[in-house]
Amino acid sequence: MILSAVLRPHLPRAAGLGLLLALAATAPRPAGAQEVLQYERPVDVAPTEETIGEGYVVPEVQRPRPLSAFRQVVDVTLLAVALVLAAWLAIFRRQRGWLVALTSACLLYFGFYREGCVCPIGSTQNVAVALVDHTYAVPHYVIVLFVLPLVAALLFGRVFCAGVCPLGAIQELVVLKPVEVPARLDKALGWLKWLYLGAAVYFAVLPAVERDFVICRFDPFVGLFRFTGAAWLLMLGGAMLIAGVFVGRPYCRWLCPYGALLSAFSRYAWRPFSITPDRELDCGLCQSACPYGAIEERRAVRTSCFACGRCYRSCPVHHAATAESVVPASALTSPAEPPKP
Ligand code: SF4
Ligand code: SF4
Repeated sequence: MILSAVLRPHLPRAAGLGLLLALAATAPRPAGAQEVLQYERPVDVAPTEETIGEGYVVPEVQRPRPLSAFRQVVDVTLLAVALVLAAWLAIFRRQRGWLVALTSACLLYFGFYREGCVCPIGSTQNVAVALVDHTYAVPHYVIVLFVLPLVAALLFGRVFCAGVCPLGAIQELVVLKPVEVPARLDKALGWLKWLYLGAAVYFAVLPAVERDFVICRFDPFVGLFRFTGAAWLLMLGGAMLIAGVFVGRPYCRWLCPYGALLSAFSRYAWRPFSITPDRELDCGLCQSACPYGAIEERRAVRTSCFACGRCYRSCPVHHAATAESVVPASALTSPAEPPKP
């Protein structure tokens, strides 16, 4: 009895940690540990320039060069630093302005400079394949990219969405006149990202010849990051951004498969985002400030709050606290009421 009373408050966090440990236990084998496989040609006689005729010349085989170890280290380090900064700015310093600066910098680096690849969202597929196909080698750094934002979500909620993810950033920066989406419709559309995650994993774990990475294939923003791509994909990205002016972050809220995982992990966050550290006035001013429908009963909902910090600006308690430029320590340590799961 006594033991269960002691353990009960820690069960949700323990469940989250259990999920992470399960992930670690079934972790895919990194690229360095692959076996040498017997290769068999799928056909006996491949067509040649002579058999094809008409002056056909076999084109040179081109393969993308693997990312250098240095670039991998730089990417992983920058991701880790950006996650720490996002958590610090969103949860502790509570500064929306610096969060916007961070998200803009991450958009420039991870989005336009690194061309949106490899990202934690797409890495979901690599990890899924490696879990079921032991001949598939996934690089260490892809595993780290996949795991780091999830660990951050277990600690501080969706800080990856707050200030690091380039897909979230490009949508965050275009929200100008957000309309309120009816809560029921918002919830119903929110199931789409789980369906998309299921479909993405399904197509990723098909046998190699049928395998498809649909998250990457239908990424609406990667064409914009690269200033090139199929016309329909560029139009999809453009349409998503135009829609995002009036409907806050439509891809994040309803479609992002990695966002589904982040929302599940942030449910058990150790110190999630809260609109004010304590002393809520329950005035309701914040509710209308959130363009993402992530406030219910005047509390940020852990699973859907992007920790963007827009609601700070509407909060009189926040303004009183930041008038001293730093939030009082007491205000950060004892939330009067925990955020909604
Ligand atoms: S929901 Fe997905 S796309 Fe949006 S910020 Fe989070 S990880 Fe990025
Ligand atoms: S409650 Fe809404 S406005 Fe406030 S940080 Fe979360 S998503 Fe942003």
